[in-house]
Amino acid sequence: MPERAKVLGSYVDLLDMNGVMEKLGAMVEGHSTQQVVTLNAEIAYLAQRDHSLQAIINSADLVTPDGIGIVWAARLQGYKIRQRVTGIELTYRLSEEAAKQGWKVFLLGALPGIADQAADCLQKSLPGLQIVGQDHGYHSSQEMPAVIEKINQLQPDILLVALGAPRQEFWIHEHKNNLKVKVCIGIGGSLDVLAGEKKRAPELFIRLNLEWLYRLLSEPARIKRQVNLPLFVLQVLKNKYLPGK
Ligand code: UDP
Repeated sequence: MPERAKVLGSYVDLLDMNGVMEKLGAMVEGHSTQQVVTLNAEIAYLAQRDHSLQAIINSADLVTPDGIGIVWAARLQGYKIRQRVTGIELTYRLSEEAAKQGWKVFLLGALPGIADQAADCLQKSLPGLQIVGQDHGYHSSQEMPAVIEKINQLQPDILLVALGAPRQEFWIHEHKNNLKVKVCIGIGGSLDVLAGEKKRAPELFIRLNLEWLYRLLSEPARIKRQVNLPLFVLQVLKNKYLPGK
């Protein structure tokens, strides 16, 4: 059984949530800093045109199938893939596990104040969770060495980076070698959801795999990015049925 699917040139691990958690557990026990990407269709489409982004995705230590578009494209090519593993679900599940295992977590990203709110909410629901620090996602590049230094002094095992995709993928890749953490995960807009600033789609949308539609309806400005979704579908179909064209 293959372990990874290739979607528009980007590799994605064929793991469900349990498989992802198992792999993350091993990473936390490891010795180097590992990068985790939660890959959705928009980013896979962008990466096909931006080779530096694709190289980052393909050198990541774990890439989860974040979104029905990736799951659909992988299945169309005959890969067996059980479920999506989204950034927000991974954040919840990882926080639960971190509380149990005593893994320390740092939250980086979103507007000033949001990471603090997200930390409070997480710690209220998981009293054992050690969030050792948090910071917002709007520091200048001159301020970045101080941010890295702060993270390193607090010695988290896991750094959740919520700068939005693909900014967070570039950020993690650029700073990975200076970070003394075990796992860095790009989690997009998850801190806004955890802080209660943005709502996740209602259960029905999630169940019908229409979360992307809910996001479009609630944030119409996303149309500029979401235009990549139909382009992604067309490209996947073209690659499958008209290869070489
Ligand atoms: N963000 C940030 N720094 C930036 C730009 C964006 O911290 O320079 C944050 C922004 O405040 C938001 C998140 O990144 O919390 C992006 O959310 P979005 O839902 O657009 O991300 P996606 O899940 O689509 O990657």
